[in-house]
Amino acid sequence: MTVRTRFAPSPTGFLHIGGARTALFSWLYARKHGGSFVLRIEDTDLERSTKESVNAILEGMTWLGLEYDEGPFYQTERFDRYKVIVDQLIESGHAYKCYCSKERLEQLREDQMARKEKPRYDGHCRDLSSPPSPDAPYVIRFRNPQEGQVVVDDLIRGRVVFNNSELDDLIIARTDGSPTYNLTVVVDDSDMDITHVVRGDDHLNNTPRQINILRALGVEPPVYAHVPMILGHDGKRLSKRHGAVSVMQYREEGYLPEALINYLVRLGWSHGDQEIFSVEEMIELFDIPDINKAASSFNPEKLLWLNQHYIKSSDPQHVARHLSYHFSKLDVDPAPAPELSQVVVAQQERARTLVEMAQNSVFFYRDIEGYDEKAAKKNLKAEAREPLAKLRERLGALEPWEQEAIHRTVSEVGEALDLKLGKVAQPLRVAVSGGPVSPPIDVTLYLLGRERTLARIDQALEYIDRQSG
Ligand code: GLU
Repeated sequence: MTVRTRFAPSPTGFLHIGGARTALFSWLYARKHGGSFVLRIEDTDLERSTKESVNAILEGMTWLGLEYDEGPFYQTERFDRYKVIVDQLIESGHAYKCYCSKERLEQLREDQMARKEKPRYDGHCRDLSSPPSPDAPYVIRFRNPQEGQVVVDDLIRGRVVFNNSELDDLIIARTDGSPTYNLTVVVDDSDMDITHVVRGDDHLNNTPRQINILRALGVEPPVYAHVPMILGHDGKRLSKRHGAVSVMQYREEGYLPEALINYLVRLGWSHGDQEIFSVEEMIELFDIPDINKAASSFNPEKLLWLNQHYIKSSDPQHVARHLSYHFSKLDVDPAPAPELSQVVVAQQERARTLVEMAQNSVFFYRDIEGYDEKAAKKNLKAEAREPLAKLRERLGALEPWEQEAIHRTVSEVGEALDLKLGKVAQPLRVAVSGGPVSPPIDVTLYLLGRERTLARIDQALEYIDRQSG
């Protein structure tokens, strides 16, 4: 059997953390078994589905690297097919027209509630021989078996048994003929030969209904795996209240996709106490039955820690590609020099996010228009004039312009003036970077180049003169 999994988002918002994790689990399972991963857009709710949302989902999946083998298939393009199946179900006696008015159903519901019964359709139109009037509006209901049980052998939850007596005859087509969720999912999962349905456990109650419809169509149901939900730090279902829940928001905040992927895979799945997984390792080690049965909690600090890990340990060229996005957001063109990947190497150890890294690296590419106030007050004062002037002189004559020689020069200026290294290096740092933090001073100067270093020292000397003049 070739494994075929799917991700079936409803395009009513961005790709969120929970959806992305479900997609990742489905994707991993397909990859692990050399199967196919299908993307299906469940856009039948015409009022809530938007093109922007479809794009946001596609963009999120691309950014995460969850490439699909088939699709995207759009349910709105398959209405004819759903109609064929609805007709077929009516034809075979598995579905029937229901003419019950809103008012009747409302009354039924109220009565049931008053009797403390679970509200459900009472089967009034099940065996109706003729319509109440020739042009009476109707919906189509599935004739759910009234006896027996539906057994779901869920790969995560284990065996879950539903009594058919608990399930009522659900609507599969509305008055306007449009199909409902449970019908479209069943038709698609069957037409697309889906073997494993991995989805949020908020759908578990739909599963016995879907299985009954599949059986009525003579189709063997797929295997189901219902993934427990994600909670925020307060134990409530993860939502916007807990911070960013949109995948692309994490991109904006300076996360690398592999950090998010690694975070998501561990959110409810584990392999011993291993925390760091490359995608290849995930594919090799992941298995659905190892997903926790219990809900998992979202932990932003751990995600940040993973991000830092990947910033530190990834190929600088790769980090540079993602970093350039953040430069463009700051309206900075990281060209022509220094090479962005060299800046990454210089900053890798100290940045937790790419936003931080970009902000702390802007000075490599943009002239200094003002100093960090506190840093200037502390370091660009009259007593810094002499060491800066001396550095200007010595660095101007330095040959070749390389890290070690720069390092030596800064130390020698300190020794010559009998100053601690900090008294020399820190004013220099503020002069060339505008603020109190930068990579080691020799690296910073080397990357900045001689010309800009000297110009910035001149600028700082003028600043000092203006302040004390
Ligand atoms: N479209 C459904 C949702 O976004 C998912 C349906 C399914 O996976 O079966 O919740």
